[in-house]
Amino acid sequence: MTKNEERLEKCRDILRHYGFEAQQDKLVEECEELIEAAQGEDYDSFIDELADVTIMITQMCISLEPEQYGQLEEMVDFKLDRTLERINDEVDT
Ligand SMILES: [Mg+2]
Repeated sequence: MTKNEERLEKCRDILRHYGFEAQQDKLVEECEELIEAAQGEDYDSFIDELADVTIMITQMCISLEPEQYGQLEEMVDFKLDRTLERINDEVDT
């Protein structure tokens, strides 16, 4: 098992234990902590909160149905391309 597969498995176990709704609330809480850390000067605390949010986002992603996950991936691709187009437009003007 790769390290990434191991992490996914652990996230799956945690999600199964607490359930989607509780973890969605936890996501909100962890995002708030990340916002606060991102506005501060403490780099270790920023990494700590970034780890918490990464774990919560992973749990949200693995709770999606395959079709919803496909939709998420399409949205990610769309947004990445849109941002790169904007960057290219900035360079051109
Ligand atoms: Mg936290």
